[in-house]
Amino acid sequence: TFEVLVIGGGPAGSSAAIYASRKGISTGIAAERFGGQVADTMGIENLISVPYTEGPKLVAAMEQHVKEYDVDIMNMQQAEKLIPAARRGLPHEIRLANGASLKARTLVLSTGARWRQLGVPGEEEYRNKGVAYCPHCDGPLFKGKRVAVIGGGNSGVEAAIDLAGIVGHVTLIEFGAEMRADDVLQKKLRSMKNVEIITSGQTTEITGENGRVSGLNYKDRTTGEEHHVALEGVFVQIGLVPNTEWLKGDIELSQHGEIIVNDRNETSIPGVFAAGDATTVPYKQIVISMGEGSKAALSAFDFLIRNSVE
Ligand code: FAD
Repeated sequence: TFEVLVIGGGPAGSSAAIYASRKGISTGIAAERFGGQVADTMGIENLISVPYTEGPKLVAAMEQHVKEYDVDIMNMQQAEKLIPAARRGLPHEIRLANGASLKARTLVLSTGARWRQLGVPGEEEYRNKGVAYCPHCDGPLFKGKRVAVIGGGNSGVEAAIDLAGIVGHVTLIEFGAEMRADDVLQKKLRSMKNVEIITSGQTTEITGENGRVSGLNYKDRTTGEEHHVALEGVFVQIGLVPNTEWLKGDIELSQHGEIIVNDRNETSIPGVFAAGDATTVPYKQIVISMGEGSKAALSAFDFLIRNSVE
């Protein structure tokens, strides 16, 4: 039985494991793929005190740091089910896809999230070569250039407003007849001079030249006409999906499937904490996930000292 068992090995999970282990309590970390989304990232320029690094390099550094401590690392292990303790003081159980099960007095759930993809030709091919998902991360790479934002919900419209201040021109493409973002955001977007808004537009392909994005094709859903827009970048903003399907029914989730946490990273189950992109924490970023992971581990430690079994 672990005192703290962390599920997920991204920035949140790594940070939680380090903080827990530094308290001298038995700590384990089970992750489907150590590194998480960071493993899929190229340049990272907003990890404070590290002006530039790359995903695989940061993953190696996180793993190295975790290995400095006595943490039981279980990589390539997928959690399938959470069975909460029958009563306070008893351990929680995590069932793994390989049939094994792990027990722990406290849990830190940090299974992260994934960006919803468009699923059109060119998207995969030009990922990180003009196709981007995170405006806070990659916006500055397109300074002065032309970009499109796909999606007219809150995140798409926020991204378009953010990008319009950095890039040369933004084309926002919304699938429906109207944008779905809050009115105040739509109003702000419409007031910006270097923004064009296209509604009823279905993106059908991301085109490339010399290995980089050169534009996109979309179909006008009212007339059926196909159009081409020449540009250098495409930000896909059609939703961030938390990896919490396996927790449904066992823990309280928001309407978007995020694990509901308070400012101490407590969930609806006593002794179960959560951190990072899988939770309701606003703004999904590496530094934020690291901070949240450490908070969750400190809360778990606090729980353990207050609920020690005699
Ligand atoms: P994740 O990184 O998603 O890690 C989740 C972990 O949980 C993984 O180890 C995964 O394998 C594991 N897992 C999932 N389900 C299970 C399960 N059932 N059982 C066991 N393990 C499971 N942020 C920045 O700050 N700067 C950037 O420049 C930046 N660029 C980005 C570029 C891209 C392409 C992407 C996709 C994201 C980028 N982000 C960036 C966002 C950043 O990567 C995330 O905010 C951060 O990784 C979230 O950390 P996390 O630990 O919460 O989750």
